[in-house]
Amino acid sequence: MRGTRINIVFQDPMTSLNPVLSIEQQMTHIQYRDQTSRSAKLKKSLAMLESVGIADPHKRIAQFPHEYSGGMLQRISIAMALQARPSLLIADEPTTALDATLEVQIIHLLKDIQAEVGCSILFISHHLGVIAELCDYVVVMYAGEVVEKGTVRDVFHNPAHPYTQKLLECDPANIQTKTRILPVIPGEIPDLVNLSGGCIFSSRCHCVLPACETHVPQRREVTSGHSAKCHLLPTWQPYCNLKTCVFVSASSLPCALYSIEPALRALTRCEMPVFPYTKGKRWHW
Ligand code: SF4
Repeated sequence: MRGTRINIVFQDPMTSLNPVLSIEQQMTHIQYRDQTSRSAKLKKSLAMLESVGIADPHKRIAQFPHEYSGGMLQRISIAMALQARPSLLIADEPTTALDATLEVQIIHLLKDIQAEVGCSILFISHHLGVIAELCDYVVVMYAGEVVEKGTVRDVFHNPAHPYTQKLLECDPANIQTKTRILPVIPGEIPDLVNLSGGCIFSSRCHCVLPACETHVPQRREVTSGHSAKCHLLPTWQPYCNLKTCVFVSASSLPCALYSIEPALRALTRCEMPVFPYTKGKRWHW
């Protein structure tokens, strides 16, 4: 995908570049849409290499991919993707094949280039620290399904979906005590060919309810712009004015809510059981 509107940086720079063509050939070939001379294309390629931090680009552009390190190849991939000044750059785990030092360099490079080119970056990653550093908006996916989305601040500080909560708990950066056993989410990803009728995360969820096995949860808003697909979240309807009242009650008299749960369910048109659950010492709905 080498368009002027959308471009992509792949996960493994070793395999995303052609090993039998020099960098010069590859960088000038992808400018085939430009109605410019070969020398102009070469000049543009050299400028791009320089902007991604390749030292001595006049000499290095004639070299082949095997003559570069992994970090340099990823820089060249980014340079090739940004040559067309796309509106959207898809970065598919661009730092996975790199060590930690190079990862930081590539993240800063992407941020700088984004500011310079003015493009949006769709950053695909399982690295939570990198996402928190680079992104403004996060979409959490499980087994091909969007389970939660919102701003970085909302999702990282107030995760609403049990999968997001577990993901953050498993992040080594969040582990405070010395341990040899890293936390994991037990179980396996479900068979996507033979899915059951309920929530896609139900076989691994620590908060699972009986209804989760049979009913697919709908997307529910946690706060403005922050939503998740989980039965534990309330289904407030626009006409219902009980939201404030119930939240006040939930923080002060959670046990009493069990007794009025059928009435609450009817008033909020919630199809699922309305049970409060605890996270730390706070009550959540
Ligand atoms: S719907 Fe049920 S199984 Fe799915 S994430 Fe929420 S609590 Fe867990």
